[in-house]
Amino acid sequence: MALIVQKYGGTSVGTLDRIRNVAARMKRTRDEGNQVVAVVSAMSGVTDGLIKMARELSENPSERELDVLLATGEQQSIALVTMALHDLGVDAASITGRQAGIFTTGSHTRGRILNMDPSLMRGFLDEGKTLVVAGFQGVTPDGMIHTLGRGGSDLTAIAVAAALKADVCQILTDVDGVYTCDPRIVKNARKLPEISYDEMLEMASSGSKVMQSRSVEFAKKFGVVFEVRSSLNDNPGTLVLEEHPNMENVVIRGVSIERSQARVTITGIPDEPGMSGRILGALGDAEINLDMIISNIAHDGFARHSFTMHSSDLGKAQAALKPLLNELANSKIETEAGIAKLSAVGIGMRSHSGVAATMFKALGDAGINIGMISTSEIKIAVTVDETRIEDAARAVHDAFDLDKAPA
Ligand code: ASP
Ligand code: MG
Repeated sequence: MALIVQKYGGTSVGTLDRIRNVAARMKRTRDEGNQVVAVVSAMSGVTDGLIKMARELSENPSERELDVLLATGEQQSIALVTMALHDLGVDAASITGRQAGIFTTGSHTRGRILNMDPSLMRGFLDEGKTLVVAGFQGVTPDGMIHTLGRGGSDLTAIAVAAALKADVCQILTDVDGVYTCDPRIVKNARKLPEISYDEMLEMASSGSKVMQSRSVEFAKKFGVVFEVRSSLNDNPGTLVLEEHPNMENVVIRGVSIERSQARVTITGIPDEPGMSGRILGALGDAEINLDMIISNIAHDGFARHSFTMHSSDLGKAQAALKPLLNELANSKIETEAGIAKLSAVGIGMRSHSGVAATMFKALGDAGINIGMISTSEIKIAVTVDETRIEDAARAVHDAFDLDKAPA
């Protein structure tokens, strides 16, 4: 008998009919001779609705109370899914984060998992019960409710799979798996049979939001192999796992895009120790998440820095930099919105050369101008004008023949 952990996201439990479908799917998995533990999200829109109410009530709601509030979303769905299972004759029980023994640390609304005590779940499973666990929530050792950050039900699922030593962990969602690129943009994008944790993380951090990044990091750390697949059909999905030697034969696994980016460039910065730290410090204090950070060798004693960020942070960034720029007589700030980022990701890059050249040539041939360039060991990212991002994705996808399954 295999133990299968299934995670159902907010869309999959978004209506009562869908909840019935989830229950039916769980029953089917159980009837095939498996033990089933489902981790579910709040019904779609519920978490956002709760946040909206809190914000309407108070400009700066207490994060402790936000956690208490947000955790109710998942509690509704576990009870409803369990009732639907009962209706199908399945012996099932709902399990809150606390009952699942998910102990957390860190700050409210961003709890991190400290350790797990799955004994209550074990006991129920031994009695033959099917379990429905609330995603996104845990409890501090002294009993305070924590939530695990947006999309945190993914993390719950991976953690529950690790704690119960599940045989299979399925992330059931509204997409069929992880694709070489968003199929709405690149028509011949291909579903990947497998992808490494590191590639999945790079794809997620560069715009392909299939799963919460922290949950992928957690899976990597604890070696939890999981599959991303559709909750609406039985197609095999994408297996996410530690890389193996064969995976390096593929140069680029996939292409992801991120829209609504903006660039800030500061010129005329004195070429002295500590300047970069002050600039980044000012942006960090204003809690601006920078993406690319590029600086050039100083020229005539002055350096030049460029950063990208989400365009909604642009105003905040300008304000945060103002005091420092006022101090620096020769400095100038220049901003540009309406850009987008294209990233090509693949662990094969480590052992193949000419990858950047292929990518830049493809963009050049398509008449697309490249703004900034940044690389990591397994990623090459460029910014382009936002109006050209879809053409850029198609050009790079074609250049690496991503529509064809590797031999
Ligand atoms: N309900 C939470 C959210 O919307 C957690 C989740 O869906 O994974 O972020
Ligand atoms: Mg979600």
